[in-house]
Amino acid sequence: MEKKQRVLIVEDEKNIVDILRFNLRKEGYDTQEAYDGEVGLALALQEAPDLILLDLMLSKMNGFEVCKRLRDQGRSTPVIIITAREAEKDKILGLDLGADDYITKPFSPSVLVARIKAHLAQYGRLKQAGGVDRNQLQLGSVLLQKDARRVFVDGAEVALKNKEYALLRFLLSNPDIVFSEETLYERIWGYDAMGDNATVVVHINRLREKIEKDPSHPRYIQTVWGAGYRFKP
Ligand code: CA
Repeated sequence: MEKKQRVLIVEDEKNIVDILRFNLRKEGYDTQEAYDGEVGLALALQEAPDLILLDLMLSKMNGFEVCKRLRDQGRSTPVIIITAREAEKDKILGLDLGADDYITKPFSPSVLVARIKAHLAQYGRLKQAGGVDRNQLQLGSVLLQKDARRVFVDGAEVALKNKEYALLRFLLSNPDIVFSEETLYERIWGYDAMGDNATVVVHINRLREKIEKDPSHPRYIQTVWGAGYRFKP
C-alpha cells in the first residue's frame, strides 16, 4: 500500500485542529499537530511532512516567522497559511513569505482539502521534474521564472504586461482551482483599483492569445461556465 501523505497542522485553536484532523484523516491523510510556533517549526524540520497548514497568530513564534525560518533552512514543503481576517491577505501577499497559498477562517473543509490535494499534486510533479525550484513555476509547457519575471512557452519567451504576468503567476500557483472573476479581480487588481470584472475577461483573453496554441480552444486557461477560470496543468 502506498504510504499515506502527512499534513502538519500548526494551529493553537483546538477546535480548528480537531476539524482539520477529522477532515484530513477522512480523506486518507495522516496528520500531526503542533499548538505553538516553536513546536510547529521543530516538527516541520524534523518530521518533513508533505504539507503544512500554518496559522499566523501562534504563541512562542508566529506563523510568519515559522514560514520564514523553514524557507531559510532550504525547505520547500508546501505551506498553506490559515488567516483569521480577510484584511491579513494583502499583508501576507506583500511579504512574500514563501507560502504557497492561504485560506481565511472560517473556511469550508472541502475547499481546504481540494487545495491541499492540488498543492500536493503540484509539489509531486515538481519533485519528479527534477527538484523543487521555488523561483520557478512550470506546468505543462508553461514556465514562469519569478525572480527574472520571465515566461516561456515551449521554451520560447513570451512578453507579458504587468497584470497579465500577475494573473498568470497567480493561476499557475493555484492549478486546478476555479476562481471567479470577482476573486481574480480582487487578488490581482485589489479593492482600490479602477476597473471591474470585464478587466479580468480582457486580460484572460490576452493571456490566451499569448500562451495558448489555439486561443479559442484553450488548453491551459480554461473557462468553467458559471464559475470562473482555472489553470489546467
Ligand atoms: Ca491562532
